[in-house]
Amino acid sequence: MKYYILFGPPGAGKGTHASVVTERFNLKHISTGELLRSEIAAGTELGKHAKTLIDAGSLVPDAVVEGMLESVFNNTTGYDGFLLDGFPRNISQAQDLDKILAARGEKVNAVIGLMISDDTIMARIKKRAAIEGRADDASETTIKHRIDTYHSVTEPLIEYYTNTDNYHQVRVEEPTIEGNQVILRALLDKIA
Ligand code: AMP
Repeated sequence: MKYYILFGPPGAGKGTHASVVTERFNLKHISTGELLRSEIAAGTELGKHAKTLIDAGSLVPDAVVEGMLESVFNNTTGYDGFLLDGFPRNISQAQDLDKILAARGEKVNAVIGLMISDDTIMARIKKRAAIEGRADDASETTIKHRIDTYHSVTEPLIEYYTNTDNYHQVRVEEPTIEGNQVILRALLDKIA
C-alpha cells in the first residue's frame, strides 16, 4: 500500500483538493478532523472528550487520533493506499506513524505540502465559517490559535519530511479552486 500525506496549514484547501490526489493514485482519503467531527455528531464518548479541545482550536491527544487512524488502516480494502489529511500534526505523531507503518512493512511514500500565507488562512476560514458552520471556524481568536499551533508544532514537520527526501510543496494562493488544482496536478505529475 502507498501512504501519502496532504500537509498544510488550516484553510490551505486540504479537504477541497484531496480528491485530486486520491483519484490520481486510487487512495482512501482519511481526514482526522472529519473522523473527529463524525464522532462528535454521533455523540460518542470519544467525541464528547474531543469536542472541547476542537472547539477551542487545540489539538486532541495523539493516542486518540492514532487509534482512529489505525482502525481505518485495518478496515479498508479496495484501494492502492491512503491519503492522510490533517495527520500528522506534530513530530511525535510523525514518529508514531513511522512506527505504525514499519510494523506493517510500509513507509510514507510522499508528502504534499499546500502552502498559503497567514492572511489567506484567516480570509479563507472566515469564508468557510459562513458555509460549513464549524464551531472552530467561528471566532477570530480560535482561528489565530490554530495558526499559532500550526507554526509552532506542525510546521516543523516540513524539515522532518524534507530530511527523508519525500517532501513536495506548492503555493495554492490562486483565487479559484480550479486554478489551484492546475498547480496541484502539475506537482502530482512529478510524484511517482
Ligand atoms: P481539521 O479538520 O484537520 O482542521 O481538524 C480540526 C480539528 O480536529 C483540529 O483543530 C484539532 O482539534 C483536531 N485534529 C484533527 N487532526 C488532528 C491530529 N492529527 N492531531 C490532533 N488533533 C487533530
